[in-house]
Amino acid sequence: MTKKIQAIRGMHDILPAQTPLWHHLESQAKRILAAYGYSEIRTPLVEVTELFKRSIGEVTDIVEKEMYSFADRNGDSLSLRPEGTASCVRAAIENGLLSQPQRLWYQGPMFRHERPQRGRYRQFHQIGVEVFGLAGPDIDLEVILMTRRLWRALGLSGLRLEINTLGDASERHAYRAELLAYLERHHERLDEDSRQRLATNPLRVLDSKDPQTQAIVADAPRLLDHLGAESRGHFEQLCAGLEAAGIAYVHNPRLVRGLDYYNRTVFEWITDELGAQGTVCAGGRYDGLVEQLGGRSTPAVGFAMGVERLIGLIEQADTAPPQTLDAYLVAVGERAQARAPQIAEELRDACPELRLMCHSGGGSFKSQFKKADRSGARYALVLGESELDAGVVGVKPLREGLEQTLVPLSSLADYLVEQGLESD
Ligand code: ATP
Ligand code: MG
Repeated sequence: MTKKIQAIRGMHDILPAQTPLWHHLESQAKRILAAYGYSEIRTPLVEVTELFKRSIGEVTDIVEKEMYSFADRNGDSLSLRPEGTASCVRAAIENGLLSQPQRLWYQGPMFRHERPQRGRYRQFHQIGVEVFGLAGPDIDLEVILMTRRLWRALGLSGLRLEINTLGDASERHAYRAELLAYLERHHERLDEDSRQRLATNPLRVLDSKDPQTQAIVADAPRLLDHLGAESRGHFEQLCAGLEAAGIAYVHNPRLVRGLDYYNRTVFEWITDELGAQGTVCAGGRYDGLVEQLGGRSTPAVGFAMGVERLIGLIEQADTAPPQTLDAYLVAVGERAQARAPQIAEELRDACPELRLMCHSGGGSFKSQFKKADRSGARYALVLGESELDAGVVGVKPLREGLEQTLVPLSSLADYLVEQGLESD
């Protein structure tokens, strides 16, 4: 037997049973993003590898060991995008979008060669937001308010907001030296990963999951104590805004995020309902990145949501409306079968919202009716030779187990609308 070809490990098909959940999330997100005046941007899935090295950082997990990089046919090093921010910044600079503030969003697949497990895949999807040209804590608050509105629309309660401030580059630089000195003194008791990070990215030691390292970190000097008046003010205003909006939050001084480009505000929305992979949305400010990638210095803030993790939550909460058919058209006999596609088209013309599946492939009344039943449609529309001659269609409610009624073809669309459509 020929060996079956399978999907790549960590890269999944999203099957028809799942796509209604995806549509639900996507349509709620689009509605809310539009309501705040955000515009969609679509960038290529592949970029030059250099873009990610220069933005995400050479010594981050993503760039060091998770990127899908390859040589193009002409030898250029290209990578599948592991995240969306770098591409957005590149596109905004390249297309001259930064002469005025921009509120952008994107969605699509991202690629990281991580160890696949629940909530962690090699192809996964994000919906993200990037705002350029606005420096104040008011816009940090706006993007967080937008996420809260989405959780509410999706019926997701129980998400916890954690925030922190990383200060600006010079404040972090001074802090980094002090943190490093402290951690060096405890070198012997740090976990292996953290020891390696001392040399490259000591701030990442703060979010080590190792209990012994965590205990050391608990007494480490705090970044908050190294902030100047401006950074401190920014953070305090954001906190005040969150309080005024009634958003509960936790200030987690160990929240540092895995990407290099963040400064000042960082935040995560976290759930306890998905096991270890509990962060469903993460973001923050990255005021230096545009300049770092060759643009004019432009403040920026953004976030990305992990779609698979949110889908997991929506599934558990069971809040997505089902996507089902209104009607399934059954046609028995040669003449009725020949006429059925026309009737279906006329119904769709009369009522664009109608979800109507037309039986295909012939067969007996009984077998067609069985398919109508299995389709999940609310009604079977029955068209036989006698109905055809009388200008009527039999309408049989499939879910309520009621009797069939005959409805004149000319008023069938109105009749179905009166009963209420699934799309309402
Ligand atoms: P984590 O700490 O879970 O590895 P991260 O800090 O690497 O996340 P970001 O790069 O900030 O994540 O991406 C934003 C969101 O995208 C995450 O909060 C998560 O919901 C989702 N995400 C990140 N990596 C994956 C993945 N490999 N599979 C599924 N979702 C992911
Ligand atoms: Mg990660």
